[in-house]
Amino acid sequence: MLAANPLSTANLLLAAMPRQAYQRMLTGHEPVELDYGQVLYEPKGPIRYVYFPIDCLVSLLTAVDERRTLEVGMVGNEGMVGMPMALGIGVSAVRALVQGSGTAMRMKAARFRAEFKKNTSLQRALFRYNHLLMAQISQTAACNRFHEAEARLARWLLMTSDRLHANEFLLTQEFLAHTLGVRREGVTKAASALQRKKLIDYSRGNIKILNRKRLEAAACTCYRIIKNLQDSAQA
Ligand SMILES: [Zn+2]
Repeated sequence: MLAANPLSTANLLLAAMPRQAYQRMLTGHEPVELDYGQVLYEPKGPIRYVYFPIDCLVSLLTAVDERRTLEVGMVGNEGMVGMPMALGIGVSAVRALVQGSGTAMRMKAARFRAEFKKNTSLQRALFRYNHLLMAQISQTAACNRFHEAEARLARWLLMTSDRLHANEFLLTQEFLAHTLGVRREGVTKAASALQRKKLIDYSRGNIKILNRKRLEAAACTCYRIIKNLQDSAQA
C-alpha cells in the first residue's frame, strides 16, 4: 500500500546525500522490518544500531515513572533514530518505540561512528536534522503543557499521517494514552469528539482520517509550526 507513494520509498536524509557518499552509506546498511510496538532503545540503554526509517514511524518516549511515558518526538523518513550517536553518545535518553510498522535501513553503531567521522555530507545532514528534531521536541514540550487533549490528538494524527504517508493506521488506546500523557478515558473523549465532528473514524484500533483540512483546523498551532520548520529545511 505504502510503496505506491514515491515519498515513502526512501529515507530523505540518505536520498539527499551526494551519490558517491550515498552509495558508500548503503553498503553499511541492511534493510530491516520493524513491527508495531517493537522497542529499539530503552532509556539509559545502549544504541547498537541507528535506523533510517523508510516507511515506518518511530516514537520517542520519555519515562515519567515506572508506568507512565510521554511522547516527546517522532521520527519518520525525514530523519534518523539514534541521534545521540551523531553527538558522540552511545546511550539513549528515551525509549524508541515503533508506532508504525514498515522498513528501515539500519547500520551498526560502530560502523556509523566510523562513517560519520569521515562523511561531511552525512555530518551536515544530521546536524541540520538534529536542529529540526530539537525544535520538534521543544514544541511538543510546550504543546503537552498548554494544549487540550483534542487539539493535541488532532496534531498527533496529522504528524503521524505525514510521516507514514497514509490516512489510515493502527492505533490502540493504550498506546495513545502513553503518547499523549492522558488517561485512557481522556483518549476516548478526545477521539470521540473528533469522530462526532466526522474528522476521523476510529474503530477496533484502526484510525482513518476522513477530513484532513478540518482536522488541521481542529489541531493546535504546533502542527503548523513543526511542519513549516520541516518544509523550510527541505526546501
Ligand atoms: Zn500544541
